[in-house]
Amino acid sequence: MTRTVSSRKYAGSGDKDYGSYSFWLETAGEELAPRPSLPGPTEADVAILGAGFTGLWTAYYLLQRDPSLRVVVLESEIAGFGASGRNGAWCNSAFPVSPGELVRRFGAEATRNLLIEMRGAVDEIGRVAGAEGIDAHYFRGGQLRVARGPAQVPGIEDAYESARALGLEEDLTLLDAEETAGRVRITGASGALYNPHCATIHPARLARGLARAVERLGGEIFEGTTVTDFETGGSPRLVTDSGEVRARTVVLAGEAYLARLRKLRRQVLPIYSLIVLTEPLSEERWTEIGWEGRECVASNRYTVDYLSRTEDGRILFGGRGAPYHFGSRIKDEYDRHEPTHEMLRSTAREWFPALEGARFTHAWGGPLAVPRDWMPTMSYDPSQGLATARGYTGQGVATANLSGQTLADLILGRDTALTRLPTVNHATRAWEPEPLRWLGARFVQRGLMKVDDRAEQTGEPPTGKTLAERLGSH
Ligand SMILES: Cc1cc2nc3c(=O)[nH]c(=O)nc-3n(C[C@H](O)[C@H](O)[C@H](O)COP(=O)(O)OP(=O)(O)OC[C@H]3O[C@@H](n4cnc5c(N)ncnc54)[C@H](O)[C@@H]3O)c2cc1C
Repeated sequence: MTRTVSSRKYAGSGDKDYGSYSFWLETAGEELAPRPSLPGPTEADVAILGAGFTGLWTAYYLLQRDPSLRVVVLESEIAGFGASGRNGAWCNSAFPVSPGELVRRFGAEATRNLLIEMRGAVDEIGRVAGAEGIDAHYFRGGQLRVARGPAQVPGIEDAYESARALGLEEDLTLLDAEETAGRVRITGASGALYNPHCATIHPARLARGLARAVERLGGEIFEGTTVTDFETGGSPRLVTDSGEVRARTVVLAGEAYLARLRKLRRQVLPIYSLIVLTEPLSEERWTEIGWEGRECVASNRYTVDYLSRTEDGRILFGGRGAPYHFGSRIKDEYDRHEPTHEMLRSTAREWFPALEGARFTHAWGGPLAVPRDWMPTMSYDPSQGLATARGYTGQGVATANLSGQTLADLILGRDTALTRLPTVNHATRAWEPEPLRWLGARFVQRGLMKVDDRAEQTGEPPTGKTLAERLGSH
């Protein structure tokens, strides 16, 4: 049965059925009963908003580096409720801003340093999962960026060239159509770029396991506790209905949901990414498809698609394209947009004819955060007692780990290679007020889809010159 919004149930106790928010939360291997909420006003050294990857990695590295700290995490739902417990399972070294654009903005050396740290974050997640005994299904299969049709070939060649210009091409491989089919048989694939710096994970198991690791180190996590406001300066604190947490430093790690806070309303644009998942496929279907290497797979479209093969032999097919909602609204019902889910199912069948007759058992989604310039920030202002990391534009699994390491160094006053990355204290201008924001977001979403469709129909690569491309690709 496909679990859609109509099948989302709420337990009799009034608690939400968190397992209905994604296949990952459903198969997290535990009850998902919320931890106790904040009992009342509290003092801490560091108070963190959000128990997703960003908040949890930050708590983890702070406590690893200084076990004497009192670190308190406040989570409105449960650890892993947000994008961290719902994503496409890619733990990837790619950064939200393309290498070419990074070089243009920050120079070659800073770009190279950042991309090397991103590769390090992919390794680091596997290392910590092992060291902490987290059964995160970490599998290092690499990534295939597939050119689906001749129009996408220049795109993967350009990606290889950008890596080469930075001296980072050594372990990347350009594959022709036959070599690509030797890994995974996708209709219309003209070639691919293979990058080994990518793993798949079980996102919810990683997030939930990480929360327990934070607690073992002495961190405190209060769930069912919504931060309604925050104060900085002389008396930094997170404000909740059950009292304030006063701290030397407050960390805002709520990604898309930060747009709900009055003071941050225009800092990020919540965009929905949606996923469909097949049943576990038979041996015969897998023989037809191949994909023994379990690489993460995407095409080279602007309107992002992302695929992974789960440990239990299902195909996960995710993509953007669900509409932006006026006023940056985030609602449970937006996780399920049937036209987008149906488009993903039919695209999956088009890519893999072997899926004919196979069932799709799950469909879900969630919001991710897009900053105005697509550049994530990892920021700390000691004079205000304020730290934040956000704006991963849907590439946040490995990036959030880098954020956690970086914020820990910044908050502890350490001068390291991480604290000199171009993400540090990067300031992005706010999104436009409504209705301009809605008009702009919808224009770019529709425009990029048209550019992709045109390229597929004509076989001609996108020019990069349309207004939608200039506004919406980085
Ligand atoms: C459908 C989907 C697919 C994706 N696929 C991939 C992928 O394959 N690979 C990849 O790298 N990235 C992917 N991403 C992006 C990635 O999952 C995120 O960038 C990353 O998980 C962000 O982690 P986070 O901790 O910053 O935010 P989140 O995981 O969203 O966590 C924020 C947490 O803060 C809590 N919170 C928010 N506001 C408050 C408040 N006021 N008070 C208390 N708590 C609050 C929320 O409940 C939530 O638990 C995907 C995202 C989505 C939505």
